[in-house]
Amino acid sequence: MVVVGIALLLALGIGCRGGEEAEGFSGERALEHVRTQVLLGPRPPGSEAAGRLRSWLRAELETLGFQVHEQPFVARTPLGAISMVNLVAFLSGSSERMLVLGAHADTKRFAEFEFVGANDGASGVAAVLELARVLSARPLRHTLALTFFDGEEALVEWGPDDSLYGSTHLVDSWVESRLARKVSAVFILDMVGDRNLRITDELNSHPQLRSRLREEAARLGYARIFSGPEQGVEDDHIPFLMAGIPALNVIGFAISPEGVVPTYWHSPHDTLDKVSASSLQAVGRTVEACLRRLDLELNP
Ligand SMILES: [Zn+2]
Repeated sequence: MVVVGIALLLALGIGCRGGEEAEGFSGERALEHVRTQVLLGPRPPGSEAAGRLRSWLRAELETLGFQVHEQPFVARTPLGAISMVNLVAFLSGSSERMLVLGAHADTKRFAEFEFVGANDGASGVAAVLELARVLSARPLRHTLALTFFDGEEALVEWGPDDSLYGSTHLVDSWVESRLARKVSAVFILDMVGDRNLRITDELNSHPQLRSRLREEAARLGYARIFSGPEQGVEDDHIPFLMAGIPALNVIGFAISPEGVVPTYWHSPHDTLDKVSASSLQAVGRTVEACLRRLDLELNP
């Protein structure tokens, strides 16, 4: 069936696009999604650009067949109460068990310069959106939930009371509604587009998901990209872990004695030229492989 289908597509001349399989995760498409976000300008909580980003995501995801919801809430921040909005999208599988794929949609607010967050913000959203296309074309048995968080970044200084606003709110609401019980695993993508990407072996993440990520990366020939140092990172996976939900942070970020990698992090230089299609593709294909493998193994 599959072979006949592909042969037919090839005969019609629509099987390949730029040498890539039409069905596989495309780094080029993901890079276009980074560009779209960067062109919106800075996207901090409450900004007009953040609203435009959500409208664009909603339209793209509804076209793919997802049910899209906005989750507005008011965050208590050191700068006072700020309205924030998470965007959540569901694609029903044959099972109610859920696999969750998330990224933060906000960019860190800087008064001194324009921060467009090509890698820190846009790359994660872009990879999740391209994964949405690939996973809707050949759905999982699990129900797929995509979560685009507002307010991941600190407004003044990173700490437990000033960070992770959107993911904390979403997890609290899912615990209350008992949706949290249906979650099999969570993958959080952040800073996954760097041209010289090295994915951190993130220490807070669920151990089995950590090793699974590296196994799948090696199998696909991406071992070098997934060879970053062991390091604990605080990101949107933390509220899930604190609620007892297995979660993984897929991130290329390290603080060493020499400084922060990547060097342009939280600077005016986190621009489109720092991001590459090939890095996005390595991450996208590895995460897709992990999700498909888990979907079979967990047998929802
Ligand atoms: Zn950041």
